[in-house]
Amino acid sequence: MVLWIGVDDTDSLQGMCTTFLATEIVRDLTEDFDLIGYPRLVRLNPNIPWKTRGNGAVCMRFGEGVGRPFVVGSIAGRPIQAYSRGRTISEQAAVADRIAPLVERWSRFDDSTTNPGFAVLRGQPTPTLYWRAVRGVVSKRSAKASARGLGVVRSYKNGRGLIGALAAIAWRPRDRTYEILTYRALEAWSTERRIAPESVIRMDHDFPSTFNNYDYANDRAVIAPRSPCPILFGIRGDDPAVLPAAMSIIDGERPERWLIFETNQGTDDHVMSRASPRPHLTVRLEGDVSSLPRVLAGGHVVVRVGPIDITAYEPSKQFRSVVRNLLPGDRVIAMGAVRASPATLNLEKLCVVSAVSVVRKVSNPLCPACGKRTKSLGRSAGFRCPRCRTLVPRDAARWEAVERPLAPGWYEPPVGSRRHLSMPIKRMLRSSHTALPVHVGLAAQAREALLRDLRGTSPMPLGTGLLNSEARDPETGL
Ligand SMILES: [Zn+2]
Repeated sequence: MVLWIGVDDTDSLQGMCTTFLATEIVRDLTEDFDLIGYPRLVRLNPNIPWKTRGNGAVCMRFGEGVGRPFVVGSIAGRPIQAYSRGRTISEQAAVADRIAPLVERWSRFDDSTTNPGFAVLRGQPTPTLYWRAVRGVVSKRSAKASARGLGVVRSYKNGRGLIGALAAIAWRPRDRTYEILTYRALEAWSTERRIAPESVIRMDHDFPSTFNNYDYANDRAVIAPRSPCPILFGIRGDDPAVLPAAMSIIDGERPERWLIFETNQGTDDHVMSRASPRPHLTVRLEGDVSSLPRVLAGGHVVVRVGPIDITAYEPSKQFRSVVRNLLPGDRVIAMGAVRASPATLNLEKLCVVSAVSVVRKVSNPLCPACGKRTKSLGRSAGFRCPRCRTLVPRDAARWEAVERPLAPGWYEPPVGSRRHLSMPIKRMLRSSHTALPVHVGLAAQAREALLRDLRGTSPMPLGTGLLNSEARDPETGL
């Protein structure tokens, strides 16, 4: 048993970062106590309307370390060690009194959306609190109730941060990843970051257990935030042991401190597999595509699947081409956040379970009586000879298969437009969460060829009936 410390909602869109506050707490408390396990960075429901930047809370455990320590960070030249197990310390109130001034110093009280809260507990609140906070909406009252009798809670302003602080403590990892976060020297804050992109590519290649480092589709490094916060960069991965070596490969500005966090990032913990699509939830649903894709103003692409429209938004870039290439009858698994207005599922990942076959008519049949080429009588109506008026059934025409550019398998947005909690397909494969193949995008030529076929001739998804091919306008045919 150890002391559990949770902190949340100290940052703002204009700067600061709750994880930096965590390094300050670690720096202060490790002078008298031992850090037990990795500090934790726990992301909560990304669809909460009042969330701060990444909706991330932190949790740290302190006690009297048992066994051999391991290095989890470095602050101002001092190595930070942690122990995998620890004995409890009793100075709960004293610890809270040490944390309060740090929270007060490093929180953005000037920002109306920043509502800090922290807790120092002897044990964890029920795991249900974490699951509700990562998937749904939790009230401050019920969060507080789950910590009753466990220790000290403090909150500032409207105190909403207490919800995340307690939920972070309540996290019992079912799946976990790690992130090494590096921080800039105080005098460098809000200046431009210097990070050599080619060193990020090198690191990405040399450390295959890391993920979300470089957006190859858009040719940019994505390890550094673009906000004026104290973070220099962060590297995410499955193996914490290699992260310091991965960090040292990055060329450019040197970090003043770094710390490895255990996190729920990249775990899909926020996704509900059996929920009906309601606003603020992230759901996984399987169904058949029932419309042709539409491209909206702004470049968003929408298609109907079962009970709901699914949308690939413009920032998901190349991922939109996957949705643009869906056809009615394709079977898909869609994962994403449900928006109330317009009612749509904002895609985070898409799996093409099966794609319908598309055939096109190569030529009309010849008249069996006189040998003249027949004319079409409209869709599903067959053919007639223009000379002797003999009728010929529709299936007498010659058809050929059109190659779809959309192979079955999983697709995801480029690295730069993924959510913190979304499990990258790279991880799904590693943890055998999927048996289906993976695709990062579509071959442009294959796509163009399909579009030509759709517009120019007569596409027909088998098993879903005929598109209105004679009108030469598949969009209005359904
Ligand atoms: Zn004829």
